[in-house]
Amino acid sequence: MNDNYKTIAALAAQVKGFLAEDEGETLYALTLEAAKLGPCIEIGSFCGKSAVYIGAACQEKGVTLFTIDHHRGSEEQQPGQLYFDAQTYDEKSGEINSLPLLRDTLRTAGLEDTVAPLVTWSKVAVKNWATPLGLVFIDGGHSYESALNDYQCWSRCLLPGGFLIFHDIYMDAAKGGQAPRQVYEKALQSGDFDQLPMVNTLGILRKRDIVVVEKKVCC
Ligand code: MG
Repeated sequence: MNDNYKTIAALAAQVKGFLAEDEGETLYALTLEAAKLGPCIEIGSFCGKSAVYIGAACQEKGVTLFTIDHHRGSEEQQPGQLYFDAQTYDEKSGEINSLPLLRDTLRTAGLEDTVAPLVTWSKVAVKNWATPLGLVFIDGGHSYESALNDYQCWSRCLLPGGFLIFHDIYMDAAKGGQAPRQVYEKALQSGDFDQLPMVNTLGILRKRDIVVVEKKVCC
């Protein structure tokens, strides 16, 4: 990787989140490719760890990264739950608010001109969406309904050759929840994607070109 990547990885290492460095490096490399096709989107911004990797590659290529999150935290991040972090808790409103941390990350990383946060739910953001995408990164809610909704909302916007990437795919059920994996496998079974090798917990699919098969009329 180039010197620019080293700076990006160092920045991302300072950001809260659940993305491993090999996953970040892969997202960066795939985005450099995908951004030739069009803008990119991620579902699940949290504090911007993955947005640093994807956004930096988008910035290099001159396209936008849209990052969607309601910023009120997932089920596991609520007070008393396993992944609760007091720094994400807003005493005034009495709820999780990770948006200020995302904004700090984007400013520190110099990505405010490239990464556009959409502070809402996936199903709201997708209404009237008409922009074809080069990359869709699904890293939002971990329930089956949530992951399925994110897949169904955004995969239809993906350009041929674009990447559909799922985070938190665990082949061993003892290591993590299986809902994202079930949706990843559903995508694979659709026949719309080619499967690329996994990197850590990233499930990577590439949208196939549409092949028009002409029927020969036999007499
Ligand atoms: Mg994740």
